[in-house]
Amino acid sequence: TPAVEIHNLFKTYDSGAEALKGIDLVIQPGDFFALLGPNGAGKSTTIGVLSSLVNKSRGVVRVFGRDLDTDRAWVKSQIGIVPQEFNFNQFEPVEEVVINQGGFYGMTRKAARSRSDHLLKELGLWEKRKSMSRQLSGGMKRRLMIARALVHEPRLLILDEPTAGVDIELRRGMWQFLTEINKAGTTIILTTHYLEEAEQLCRNIAIINEGRIIENTNMRDLLDNL
Ligand code: ADP
Ligand code: ADP
Repeated sequence: TPAVEIHNLFKTYDSGAEALKGIDLVIQPGDFFALLGPNGAGKSTTIGVLSSLVNKSRGVVRVFGRDLDTDRAWVKSQIGIVPQEFNFNQFEPVEEVVINQGGFYGMTRKAARSRSDHLLKELGLWEKRKSMSRQLSGGMKRRLMIARALVHEPRLLILDEPTAGVDIELRRGMWQFLTEINKAGTTIILTTHYLEEAEQLCRNIAIINEGRIIENTNMRDLLDNL
């Protein structure tokens, strides 16, 4: 079963913006997949639909074989999402941001704390776990978003422009962390408008432009044909 199957996906916002005009995508379990395209291409909308943040206009979306329309709660339980904006409660201590997220997925506080401890150590945030999250640097806030997205051990992690505005040294650390969890079995989809980021990390890539997939291939073939 593919991790993600998208067939003929359309999204028109209330504003009239036709963000997606018939997208088809298949992403296999274990893949590290890039959705590359310029600003306004439809990347955020695509992952918004996958993660139930955006309602599609029409089309079929399946995650690990289950239909988003009929099994939405289950699909949500399989996905961790790292949006672009820092949308956690800035007035909560770092570890509470992660632990409370576990509560949304029905985890006990004990289980969520144990998972949070592990993730905060892995992501270099252990010393900051009691700090107010608004006091973190931008790069640390980004890593807190990643810890929060992983608390319920999702099989699919989706990141929207994860390193936008992040300096190069921090970017390398994040890349390394993502590569490790992918090796450990988590399917990853990231959006980016840097080919270099996709090239460093991803095995397969789709290029999206003006709401349509214009290329869908593996990274090696793409680079060979540039
Ligand atoms: P990307 O992530 O590739 O930059 P988006 O999916 O954010 O692209 O945007 C695709 C198109 O949809 C753009 O024309 C954008 O202006 C429009 N759009 C995105 N979000 C909204 C929204 N909430 N309301 C109206 N239009 C939107
Ligand atoms: P900035 O202030 O530029 O936003 P941070 O203060 O968040 O950066 O980052 C501090 C340090 O943490 C950086 O030197 C970076 O290399 C390191 N770092 C980045 N990502 C990770 C990671 N996943 N695990 C451990 N350390 C990391």
